[in-house]
Amino acid sequence: MGTPERLDLCKPCAAEKSRQGVRLKTVSGRTEKITCAACGRRRFGRTYEAVNAEEKEDPKP
Ligand SMILES: [Zn+2]
Repeated sequence: MGTPERLDLCKPCAAEKSRQGVRLKTVSGRTEKITCAACGRRRFGRTYEAVNAEEKEDPKP
């Protein structure tokens, strides 16, 4: 609850997150150089807001 979490994510990580059921809302409209919050690399990506649609535990293989 509260303020949605803001994440800088590169494209592959954003795709991966949404595959895991995380709803991402784009905050900034343009692609810029960010440090990805998921993989920690300096890449082109966007700032997203993570909307927790459903509480899920980390899906571990
Ligand atoms: Zn990434």
